[in-house]
Amino acid sequence: MLPAVLAARHSEPDLPEAATALRPAERSLLRFITCGSVDDGKSTLLGRLLWETGAVYEDQAEALARDSERFGTDGKNRDYALLVDGLSAEREQGITIDVAYRYFATPRRAFIAADTPGHEQYTRNMATGASTADVAILLVDARKGVLPQTRRHSSIVSLVGVKDVILAINKMDLVGFDEAVFRRIEAEYRALAARLGFRSIHALPLVARDGDTLTRRSARMPWYAGPTLLDLLETLEPALPVDGRFYLPVQWVNRPNADFRGFSGTVASGQIRVGDPVTILPQGRASRIAEILTPEGARNAAKAGEAVTVTLADETDVARGDVITVGHRPPHTSGTLTARLLVLGERVLAPGDRLLIKLGSATVPVRFEALAHELSVEDLSPQPARHLAMNGIGKAVLRPEAPLFALPYDECQMLGSFLLIDPIAHATLAMGVIEMVAGPSRAASPERSGPAHPLLAQLWPSGRPEQIRSAATTLLFALAGFLLTGTLAGAFVLAALDGIGRPLLHALLERFWPPGEKPAPAAIPEPGLDGGGI
Ligand code: GDP
Repeated sequence: MLPAVLAARHSEPDLPEAATALRPAERSLLRFITCGSVDDGKSTLLGRLLWETGAVYEDQAEALARDSERFGTDGKNRDYALLVDGLSAEREQGITIDVAYRYFATPRRAFIAADTPGHEQYTRNMATGASTADVAILLVDARKGVLPQTRRHSSIVSLVGVKDVILAINKMDLVGFDEAVFRRIEAEYRALAARLGFRSIHALPLVARDGDTLTRRSARMPWYAGPTLLDLLETLEPALPVDGRFYLPVQWVNRPNADFRGFSGTVASGQIRVGDPVTILPQGRASRIAEILTPEGARNAAKAGEAVTVTLADETDVARGDVITVGHRPPHTSGTLTARLLVLGERVLAPGDRLLIKLGSATVPVRFEALAHELSVEDLSPQPARHLAMNGIGKAVLRPEAPLFALPYDECQMLGSFLLIDPIAHATLAMGVIEMVAGPSRAASPERSGPAHPLLAQLWPSGRPEQIRSAATTLLFALAGFLLTGTLAGAFVLAALDGIGRPLLHALLERFWPPGEKPAPAAIPEPGLDGGGI
């Protein structure tokens, strides 16, 4: 329920229409997040926006006046940040520590805003808020320009699939409303964000505290002729989710008595009708939809986002974590997942780690197989790395160690995003989104593509595990040759025997003993480790 509005409270003459004049059915919904470094003015911006769109109750307005005198950071003036900094701990410290969700509306649109913490140690809260946002408002203090936290937050919002960014260059009053400062920060940010694949970036010069460019153009910045923040929020069209194939991750097997067996969950994508043939993945068992049940009763069809219970025409074995999809599909055999990771916990993650992956409604063991790169916080460029520490963002290859049905994030958000969990402490270690799913192949089997010994990897940091292993064995052969014959020639002969003889032996084995494990039908080639993007 949207807050009722007390229009009489406003003394400002040109405020937008109050939210009570809305016809909810006609309004679209936009979710956005405010992020940036601490003290950039996120809470002030959101508080002032709530104020100016009339989403503040009279009692809240009175409390704001009282609190501004007691806790305010703006002298005797209203401190709009206090409207959204609800927790007393953060009031006392003057920082935002949790994700605060706010609801407000204008005649054109309803909004859900996530106000998230700016401090680095609260990156996980920020990532949580961003994961449901359509648009990110990224605040920059005009005096400070683009900071490491601006880059980090930009890569996180890109990681979780946000497509549109509003670069809010705030506190323009403190740089003399200088257009040159605004343009320089805008250009720096656009150059930086070019790697992140946003659909749109809009830069705005703001004074959040006083409301300039929030809902009205600013007389103090006549050089800016673009839209206000509210104009943008009201008109940006959220990127539509891909309406793909039907997938229902089974969250719960609903079996109240021997006569009923239903499978409950939220439809991840696509739609289904009663009578449609289905396959249960990963096993590949076939059946047909018998009934679709919802709290409102039986239905003929269900679509993405709806919570349903389905029953099947056969006594098919279905468990929590399975995925019901439409049509006929072969059993799914897991290969590797190439994913972008954000480390949320204090544990450092490195190739060789054995963890749990929670994806959809399934949780299975997973092996961290390789780390392609880490994103530098300096310029967001990919850098070689051996591990990822807290707040680190990188590209990794993961190998589920039990059958797990996964999809690229672009195809299905629910089956394309996951959490990595510590198998012993059960703490959440990282969140990730999948770029590519590859079927099993011999080349990718753990024995042959797992990480090389850490000591060897240290001697040759840029080498791939197979190269490192191969060079190490050749050296061992050379040493054995030298010890046996006491001559360098002996060392050379044995090294050559290893270098030439081993590949030859492999080729002969492949020729007479072909691999039994064929790639899965929908297999995508084994991922390279140096692809573009994040
Ligand atoms: P947050 O930590 O990003 O949520 O920042 P706050 O909203 O708490 O603001 C931090 C400080 O900056 C407060 O003292 C605000 O009054 C002040 N502030 C916010 N916006 C502006 C602005 O546009 N101009 C000036 N001069 N100060 C501002």
